[in-house]
Amino acid sequence: MGAMSQGDLPGDQAFLRDGLKGSGAEVPYAGAVSFLRRTYTRDIADADVVITGIPFDAATSGRPGARFGPRAIRAASPPLAELPGYPFGIDPLSELAIADYGDCHLDWGYPTHVVERVEAHAREILAHDVTMISLGGDHFVTYPLLRAHAAKHGPLALVHFDAHSDAWADDGERLDHGSFVLRAAREGLVDPAASVQIGIRTPNSSDHGFTVLGAPWVHREGIGAVLDVVRETVGDRPAYLTFDIDCLDPAFAPGTGTPVVGGLTTAQALDAVRGLGDLDIVGMDVVEVAPAYDQAEVTALAAATLVHDFLCLLAIRGGAEPAPYGRL
Ligand code: MN
Ligand code: MN
Repeated sequence: MGAMSQGDLPGDQAFLRDGLKGSGAEVPYAGAVSFLRRTYTRDIADADVVITGIPFDAATSGRPGARFGPRAIRAASPPLAELPGYPFGIDPLSELAIADYGDCHLDWGYPTHVVERVEAHAREILAHDVTMISLGGDHFVTYPLLRAHAAKHGPLALVHFDAHSDAWADDGERLDHGSFVLRAAREGLVDPAASVQIGIRTPNSSDHGFTVLGAPWVHREGIGAVLDVVRETVGDRPAYLTFDIDCLDPAFAPGTGTPVVGGLTTAQALDAVRGLGDLDIVGMDVVEVAPAYDQAEVTALAAATLVHDFLCLLAIRGGAEPAPYGRL
C-alpha cells in the first residue's frame, strides 16, 4: 500500500476507469464503494465476472437486516483491492474483467415478487458469458439465483456453507430463508447426490440425500478432509457455491441474523474456499451479512474476502499463474 503512489490515479475508479480491468491505489476510506473498486456498469458484454447485490431480508426468521448486506460488503472491500491477492500472488482485478452491476431492484411493498424479480435479474446477467457473484440478502435469494443458474447450466452440484441445512419443510409459498435447499432439490435445480453442506450445527429430521459435514466433523477432521469429500462428491459437474456467513462462528461473524455458536473460523473458511479451484463453479453468492449486528466490519470483511478469493480461483482457471508468497 505504502509503496504505491496515490498520485497515479484520480481516485473513484468505480466510475472513472476506462474498461473493466485494472487496479491501483485509492485511499481506502473515500470514493464510490463499488465491490473491490470495480467499474459500476450494466454494459457487461465484455465482462468475465459480474457482481451484483440482492438487498432482500423479508424471509429472515430471526433478526432482519441482511438487506444492508450488499452495501456493507462493498464498503468493506476496498482494502482488498490495494494489493495482489494473498496467498495466490495474483491480481484477479487485472486478470479478469469484473463489473459491479449494482443491485437488483426490489419493491419492499411486494415481497412475494422476489422470486420472479431476482430470477429475471439473474437471467439478464447470465444471458452473457459471465460468472455471476451475488451479495445477499438473506438466504432465500439463493433459490431464484439457482433457478436462473440451473436454466443455463442444468442441474447443479451445490457446495453450501452454513450453520443451517436450509432444507426445512416448505409448501412452495412461504418466503423463508430456511427452505431454499429443499425447494431447489425438489425442482431438480440441484442434485443432492452431488452436493455437500459444510459447517451445519442445527438439526433436521432428514439429510434429504445431501452429504452433510457437521461443524464438529469439520473441526475434528480438518479442512483437508472437507475438500476430499467435496471433490469426491461434486466431481466435474457444474457447481454453485453458496456461502451463508453464519457458517462462521459468531466470534468471527457476529453480523448476521441467526448466529449459532461452534462454527468455522474465518481462517478455516478461507482455507476451504481456496481449495475449491478444481471444481467447475459456475456461480457464487455470499448471504446473510447483517451489518447492524456487526463489530468493526469483521463480518462484512470476511464476506468480501471470501468473494475476493473466489475471484482468484477464477483467474487461475483462466490461466493466471499463482506465485505464492512464503510457506502456506
Ligand atoms: Mn442459510
Ligand atoms: Mn444459516
